[in-house]
Amino acid sequence: MRMSRMYMPTLREVPSEAEIPSHQLLLRAGMIRKLVSGVYSFLPLGYRVMRKIEQIVREEMDAAGAQEVLMSAIQPAEIWQESRRWYEFGPEMFRLKDRHGREFCLGPTHEEYFTDLIRDEVKSYKQLPLNIYQIQTKYRDEKRPRFGLMRSREFLMKDAYSFDKDEEGMRESYKIMWKAYEKIFTRCGLKFKVVEGDSGAMGGSDSHEFMAMSDVGESQMAYCEKCDYAATDEKAKCIYNLNIDEDAELETEKIYTPNVKTIEQLVKFLNVPADKFVKTLIYKIKDEIVAVLVPGNREVNEVKLCNLFGVRDHELEMANEEIVKEVTGAEVGFAGPIGISEKVKLIVDSRITQMKNFIVGANETDYHIKNVNYGRDFEGQVVEDLLLVEEGDLCPKCGEPLKIARGIEVGNIFQLGTKYSESLNATFLDENGKEKYFFMGSYGVGISRTMAAIIEQNYDEKGIIWPLSVAPYHVIITIVSTKKEEQVNLGEKLYKELMDKGIEVLLDDRNERPGVKFNDADLIGIPIRITVGRKASENIVEFVLRATGEKVEISSDEVYERIK
Ligand code: ATP
Ligand code: MG
Ligand code: MG
Ligand code: MG
Repeated sequence: MRMSRMYMPTLREVPSEAEIPSHQLLLRAGMIRKLVSGVYSFLPLGYRVMRKIEQIVREEMDAAGAQEVLMSAIQPAEIWQESRRWYEFGPEMFRLKDRHGREFCLGPTHEEYFTDLIRDEVKSYKQLPLNIYQIQTKYRDEKRPRFGLMRSREFLMKDAYSFDKDEEGMRESYKIMWKAYEKIFTRCGLKFKVVEGDSGAMGGSDSHEFMAMSDVGESQMAYCEKCDYAATDEKAKCIYNLNIDEDAELETEKIYTPNVKTIEQLVKFLNVPADKFVKTLIYKIKDEIVAVLVPGNREVNEVKLCNLFGVRDHELEMANEEIVKEVTGAEVGFAGPIGISEKVKLIVDSRITQMKNFIVGANETDYHIKNVNYGRDFEGQVVEDLLLVEEGDLCPKCGEPLKIARGIEVGNIFQLGTKYSESLNATFLDENGKEKYFFMGSYGVGISRTMAAIIEQNYDEKGIIWPLSVAPYHVIITIVSTKKEEQVNLGEKLYKELMDKGIEVLLDDRNERPGVKFNDADLIGIPIRITVGRKASENIVEFVLRATGEKVEISSDEVYERIK
């Protein structure tokens, strides 16, 4: 591509709304433009990078035996009503009506749709396992779209769905996707960790998040350097508390359930329906278990909690406030439709002691707990740090002190079990002719977010440093002076040669000062620069690596050899 013809509106100034490097650089390098908050256009260079990432994802999915399809972004309300998520997803879902008043949404994810797709078509265990995926735009009306491609309202996701005949099959499919994800993010040049996650709005049992390490990441994780334990902070807290005394006796008089004596029994006792189950937290004050939390659904959990404590709802609420007073000596008020279990969670956290008169409320009715992050989704005082695992908390696996790091969630895989197949009544006939629900998994990669994550790990003061695997072009040939015939001739010759050999190459043939050209080449992050300057008459060019700044003069005949 000739830069004289390219649409690449670079900016000299850092746009003030852009707070983090990837957002600033994507705008400055003319790769993306904002339409409205959280909605972006991809310009030629940016779109090329996105397609590179997309292609890596596609290749690894195909290699793992998944098959690509393309579904619509528009989904009818009915399938979401079947799974109940129409009522649970909350304001993050973009909803619309057609001219007849029929309700639709712009898909934030596609579990229901894929389950619906196969439920009438896949009839026999012989057709399983099956894994189908798409690469398609998702819509989420994020409370706080920010950081450019990192948290946008329209974004590109690869989402895959696996269907198996039993749990063992599901676990196998999950493992295959896990491996594929490791390959994908490695090929994208990312440093990442795989951490145990919360199942959140997806429901189901097991989940893992792929975290690109970055200080600007919105997620926090806890990991152990001694063993391989790694989890999101919430999950780490949860497991930490669960594992501490697996066989501990539940002695406290506050617990009112004669048949429940151990934590294990307790978890069984709670037995919340899979789709209501987000996580179970067991809190203690001074080694006494004071609360068991199963956030996710107020009605189910609070009733159970109340039974457990042998109190009525409002009494429990009162009791909680009493506990706060006792523990913190502070008056604490609560507002908003936040679940009682969440209140207990706040209350019993001993680190709450520094807080006075603090009020927290979920953002929407019936939209609390699930995937809610303090500070991000809650107005009011940020209490985030009070609720996280801390550096030095003990690893639940090996007991060593945990480390804490921030990361960008670039991928997430879920074992869904039969949550969606049951609610949408998707069945097949097994070996014995018996009707069974599909065991499912779902697997997401945030492709546009990955693009931002790659920049966060690869930039310097001059601009982006794309890894070769995703760079918009591999090579840029910079003609230092377009007024010098020998430079133009050599530049053009090299340009043609490299293109003929299949190298993706940019030719900076613009009539600009050399400084402008070098700065642009650095800003847009092309891995290799060939500078055709004064020594063009001797057939000598400069070969420069963007990442290291390493420069060598070579004969123009050697260029291809060096690049390939
Ligand atoms: P987050 O915790 O950051 O809100 P999520 O857990 O809600 O993300 P998933 O439902 O797991 O997201 O979706 C799968 C992937 O889609 C995520 O791992 C992430 O890479 C990407 N993704 C999710 N929300 C956004 C967004 N608003 N903008 C860009 N990418 C996103
Ligand atoms: Mg989210
Ligand atoms: Mg998440
Ligand atoms: Mg997720």
